[in-house]
Amino acid sequence: MKSLSHAKRLTQCYESGNVWCYYDADATNSCGCGSNCYHYEYDEDENTIYGVCNGCNKEIYKVAPEDTDKWLSEGKWLNK
Ligand SMILES: [Zn+2]
Repeated sequence: MKSLSHAKRLTQCYESGNVWCYYDADATNSCGCGSNCYHYEYDEDENTIYGVCNGCNKEIYKVAPEDTDKWLSEGKWLNK
């Protein structure tokens, strides 16, 4: 049974500790809630980074495995 607490999730943040948000300039993101901003969360168990909607916290997509290291080298990844 998988925990729903996301205890091993790390959120990509700026050096300041604020969550690093991305915006779709000309479209709402694909989750369907109407938000156009999202952030990245790294799941340590799965070694996978997810794009997560800021509006409703839904996982929108997975970052390609070959790009994971590149993303992890940017910003600070904090347990929020
Ligand atoms: Zn949403």
